[in-house]
Amino acid sequence: MTNEASNSAPVRVRPEIASLPPYKQGKQAGADAFKLSSNENPFEPLPAVVDAIRAEVTINRYPDASAGRLRARLAEKYGVTSDEVHVGSGSVALIAQLLLAVAGPGDEVIFAWRSFEAYPGLTLVPGATSVKVPLTADFAHDLDAMAAAVTDRTRAIILCTPNNPTGGTMSAAAVREFLAKVPGDVLVMLDEAYAEFVTDPDAVDGVRDGILADFPNVVVLRTFSKAYGLAGLRVGYVLGHQRILDAARSTAIPLSVTAQAETAALASLDNEAQLKARVAVLVERRTQLLDRLRAAGIMVPDSQANFVWLAFGDDTMAAAAAFEAGGVIVRPFAGEGVRVSIGEAESIDVIVRIAQSVVDTLPEGHPVRGLA
Ligand SMILES: *Cc1c(COP(=O)(O)O)cnc(C)c1O
Repeated sequence: MTNEASNSAPVRVRPEIASLPPYKQGKQAGADAFKLSSNENPFEPLPAVVDAIRAEVTINRYPDASAGRLRARLAEKYGVTSDEVHVGSGSVALIAQLLLAVAGPGDEVIFAWRSFEAYPGLTLVPGATSVKVPLTADFAHDLDAMAAAVTDRTRAIILCTPNNPTGGTMSAAAVREFLAKVPGDVLVMLDEAYAEFVTDPDAVDGVRDGILADFPNVVVLRTFSKAYGLAGLRVGYVLGHQRILDAARSTAIPLSVTAQAETAALASLDNEAQLKARVAVLVERRTQLLDRLRAAGIMVPDSQANFVWLAFGDDTMAAAAAFEAGGVIVRPFAGEGVRVSIGEAESIDVIVRIAQSVVDTLPEGHPVRGLA
């Protein structure tokens, strides 16, 4: 079939879906480029994890639909029951399931903006409306404005902490204060995809800080994709009240979590100390990169995740091109900034050098220029 013929396929696609841009993946990198566009873990998989996957060969059988072994293991880790854990093929799939369960046409979903680029599409698919509340000037969630945006059509609120792509967090006290203003029948998702990289003791941790226990309308989302390095296998989880998770289980596409993914997640938990040591190395590189960028006079907000945010504003696409020409693939958000993942040790020098060369071309007073 020619392209022309397929373009004119007369099937009636919902107009809002037809106008939704398909998911755009971080750019693939050439063999010798640093791929710092998708917040992936730069370390090769642990041999013990690879061995566990290799041993999981009964692929003629369907997997365990509820990922029972992994749920039991996570329940033990977090001190909840197995029914209060739900595993999905990545936490993006879980956000989709939850939104399908609570929001439909005419309903509103509130999240900060700029935040995770998947939220608007995941909101639109069930027919709900995104309510984007701008970040503050220093890239924090504006929790007062988010609380003020709640209406009787609000069905869900997503708090992304650390926020992708800007890296900032919020305190447990601020989250509690916010939740006190939110009606108890509104689902609040704490998206903690980068929780393992957080070193600031004031940053919220929904489980540790008792928020999950105190607010039955809150769920906490985590993933094995980032700190645990299993992005390619697709496995994440959500902790929360059984009634909410049952609703997500009802909208889930059954059997999406493979036995290999479940096994790899379990093997990762068995080898957590090694993985945590790697996370510590990435955190150290994050500190190095932030320090060196700031020493070069570049304004970069603090990050508690495995990426940093450079607010190049209108010069973003030119900056991204300069990075690419220098062998670093970053994630640009046109008109706003670029997100650069923390990757290989050797990438730090290169990032600083390119960032500096771009900033040197920008006028005095450009927001990405430091106060120095
Ligand atoms: C990466 C990411 C996720 C999860 O990704 P999965 O691979 O689907 O688990 C969720 N939320 C945010 C904010 C992310 O950046």
